[in-house]
Amino acid sequence: GETLIRVEGLTKHFHVRLGAFGERAATVHALDDVSFDIFEGETLSLVGESGCGKSTTGFALLNLHRPSAGRVVYRGRDIAGLDEKAMRPFRRDLQIVFQDPYSTLNPRMTVGEAVAEPVRHHGLAKGADVATRVAALLADVGLPARFAARYPHELSGGQRQRVAIARALACQPRFVVCDEAISALDVSIQAQIINLLLDLQDKYGLTYLFIAHDLAVVRHISDRVGVMYLGRFAELGRRDQVFGEPLHPYTRALLSAVPEADPEVERNRRRQVLQGDVPSPLDPPSGCRFRTRCPIAVARCAEAVPAFREVRPGHHVACHLVGEGVAT
Ligand code: SF4
Ligand code: MG
Repeated sequence: GETLIRVEGLTKHFHVRLGAFGERAATVHALDDVSFDIFEGETLSLVGESGCGKSTTGFALLNLHRPSAGRVVYRGRDIAGLDEKAMRPFRRDLQIVFQDPYSTLNPRMTVGEAVAEPVRHHGLAKGADVATRVAALLADVGLPARFAARYPHELSGGQRQRVAIARALACQPRFVVCDEAISALDVSIQAQIINLLLDLQDKYGLTYLFIAHDLAVVRHISDRVGVMYLGRFAELGRRDQVFGEPLHPYTRALLSAVPEADPEVERNRRRQVLQGDVPSPLDPPSGCRFRTRCPIAVARCAEAVPAFREVRPGHHVACHLVGEGVAT
């Protein structure tokens, strides 16, 4: 597909104060010089341990926070850091569904009112047509029209997430960030919501940025997968490349933690356990940020940041040793 969003050098640093009296200034390196494209109609998943920059990336793409540097080019226009007024023409197109709809649904608003709100806000229907539009949106997410009269506390977790999806869909978006949108749900409900998201993608030609930590789910739904570590991309490629021929030592370690479906394969497999914790984003390691946990690190890894290179068509990796016959 065509490029829908081009991300160039996206960087987000938070300034914080540490110490009992806030006497020490420090910088959180949440995202550092990240560049990638999102193609129209695809599902691009971002994976990685918490704090790796997945949600920060999602927020920056929607201009929900201002990046410290870099560009987010949406259909030819850099929207990074635009103020709300300048952002207005883009707001409808760019939507997000969060992990916990409880935090985004107003407990005193009925489902009908919650879904009608974006319809009215964006002037997509008026008067009696609003109710018709709301009923159609509820049908789209598999909820009967009578649910319009219910309140969030009367719904199950899966039903609440359907309402959150209906609200996003109300804007007729092109791009939806699903930020751990299924992570809090029971496994059986997760499958229903995933199928719903895939159906809606087909029906409306949606493009998804899917932020998740469940690699089995990611493998099921993604066209491409980006693996992040401490605010940078380690690897990015098509699903079959990342899952089938992972090149970065971090990706390999992450994937080795996913059980194989075939018990025979699972028994004979060598697990590669990641040593240690993710270092603090306040003081990331020099050079390659993965080097403190990398089983194959060499001296150079502490000295130079590995470039994020396209080593095969569509397959990008940031490791000094990939392509030199060491890690591959
Ligand atoms: Fe490991 Fe070095 Fe490659 Fe980083 S650059 S992943 S430390 S080998
Ligand atoms: Mg698809």
